[in-house]
Amino acid sequence: MQTTVASTPQATPMTQDTQTKEDFFTQRSHFCGDVTADQVSQTVTLNGWVAVNRDLGGLIFIEMRDRSGFFQIVADPEKNPQVHGILSGLKAETVITATGPVTRRPEDTYNPNLPTGEFEIYPTSVEVISRSKTLPFQLDDEADLVDEGLRLKHRYLDLRRPKMHQNFLLRHQVAQAIRNSLNSQGFLEIETPILLKATPEGARDYLVPSRVHPGQTFALPQSPQIFKQLLMVSGMERYYQIARCFRDEDLRADRQPEFTQVDLEMSFVNQEDVLSTVEDLLCQVFSVSGITLEKPFRRMSWQEAMEKYGSDKPDLRFGMEFIDLTDIFTTSEFSAFRQQVEKGGVVKALMVKGAASYSRKELDDLQVMAKRFGAKGLAYIVYNEDGPKSPILKFMSEAEQQAIQQRTGAETGDAVFFAADSFNAACAVLGRFRLLFGEKHNLIDKNRHEILWVTDFPMFEVDDAGNLSPNHHPFTSPRPQDLELLDTDPGKACSLGYDVVYNGAEIGGGSVRIHQRDLQAKIFKLLGLTDEEAHEKFGFLLEAFEYGVPPHGGLALGLDRIVAMLAGEDSIREVIAFPKTNNAACPLTSAPSAPSEEQLKELHMAWVLPEEEAEA
Ligand code: ASP
Repeated sequence: MQTTVASTPQATPMTQDTQTKEDFFTQRSHFCGDVTADQVSQTVTLNGWVAVNRDLGGLIFIEMRDRSGFFQIVADPEKNPQVHGILSGLKAETVITATGPVTRRPEDTYNPNLPTGEFEIYPTSVEVISRSKTLPFQLDDEADLVDEGLRLKHRYLDLRRPKMHQNFLLRHQVAQAIRNSLNSQGFLEIETPILLKATPEGARDYLVPSRVHPGQTFALPQSPQIFKQLLMVSGMERYYQIARCFRDEDLRADRQPEFTQVDLEMSFVNQEDVLSTVEDLLCQVFSVSGITLEKPFRRMSWQEAMEKYGSDKPDLRFGMEFIDLTDIFTTSEFSAFRQQVEKGGVVKALMVKGAASYSRKELDDLQVMAKRFGAKGLAYIVYNEDGPKSPILKFMSEAEQQAIQQRTGAETGDAVFFAADSFNAACAVLGRFRLLFGEKHNLIDKNRHEILWVTDFPMFEVDDAGNLSPNHHPFTSPRPQDLELLDTDPGKACSLGYDVVYNGAEIGGGSVRIHQRDLQAKIFKLLGLTDEEAHEKFGFLLEAFEYGVPPHGGLALGLDRIVAMLAGEDSIREVIAFPKTNNAACPLTSAPSAPSEEQLKELHMAWVLPEEEAEA
């Protein structure tokens, strides 16, 4: 998806009168991409980079490039030997100025691929402003295939590519749309601290040692969560910030240790108010890329999303909902399925049209995949011309087989795949396979835009030992109707948390918050914090909650992910100007790096390095 809005900044045309003798170069009168038929016969001055230099053994053709686009410069040794001499042999990416009258190209040399493809100049003068060495990689579309480490090491070159300019233009326009929408809805843009006491979002903190407080550290924000809530206690009513956040997570594909969130919070609102505010915001954002989203967005409870799609971020661009077969196996002879049902688990199935044609190898590969997804295997029945085939048929009664075919609607040529396990495990595995089959059978319509809210998340995740951890963060309010469950069966309580999901990716999430001091203290306790720990970590919040707290709620959107999706990029690194690598380093500046002895001393610090590194 490309943006449609023009990209050219306003040129500040320099005339002979405004140009001073002291200037290092002659300033442009026009941007390369802005020259039109109106300028034919006028003299223009262009500043930019040599994108391509073709020397045809006489005429030299230079494609000049600036942020707005390209323009062709021609040098003829007969007409202007001096200009020809300067341009001859100029390396790509040299910065030049070219001045001359705009002429129309001979018709048979028009370049239909360029907006300026009908024009050129034979410069009367050129200046070489800054030379370039031979590039480490070519700045064409093939650069996408260049080793990413090399691209990031020379990111300033990589960013010169028109595609990258488009991405950052889009990012800018998205940020504008966000500000426009929220400003018009009465939000204030307020900055919160970068050096702070840790805010828990479930990841590791980046710590910054304090020089003036020996032995103490700040944390970089994982999110502005606590501060935005304090701003609500402060009566700011509506806050937003395009906020940089930091999470020291282990290596994970397409995560960045620092990333950008559109963070917002509102007072005296309920869940619906937040959702509809964000819907307006997202409609404006998506319209930047010419996408119209229908309001209100679809809403689906977490339970339904798991039940039907095995995911809390279902991709609704295709169907293939799960089919529940649990009741068929309650008293079955097929013990593998029956035992799961007896333990309170489920039997769920996916019906995949046309999958009866899978080869032996394809079916075997699915077993390997199932193991990778954490299941024992993937039971299946294929429906061939000569009837159903499966290693598990022999364990099932005729009636069960018929019930399966009837419930799933499988016909000759189709296949049914099963998961029998606990609800969460069975849904999760089939959810992975649903996406895999969707891709494999080209069921995902890439032109569809499916956005929805997933709501009513469980309050807590419960580990095998029965310990609770927050599903979102500890400030998320339980649903009012679930308050009693906190005392009786907290693992069953649902929250007023919500995620917004676009084409199968979570692009944001938030919640109505706890605004009652005692309830907040109770949740801390359920999460296993002692009174002392709660006081030590969040005493300031609990104290603030003693001075009149408005009910409030909010959310954060992942700006990098949204822009990447609108730009049609798979990786968020393509829409972050200077991203880190997947292992949290910057090849351009070689960060992180070792501090000097002097710095360590000032910070009252000493390293204890892992053994291999200490030896190296
Ligand atoms: N602080 C949350 C996050 O970073 C978002 C929110 O609840 O507003 O995910």
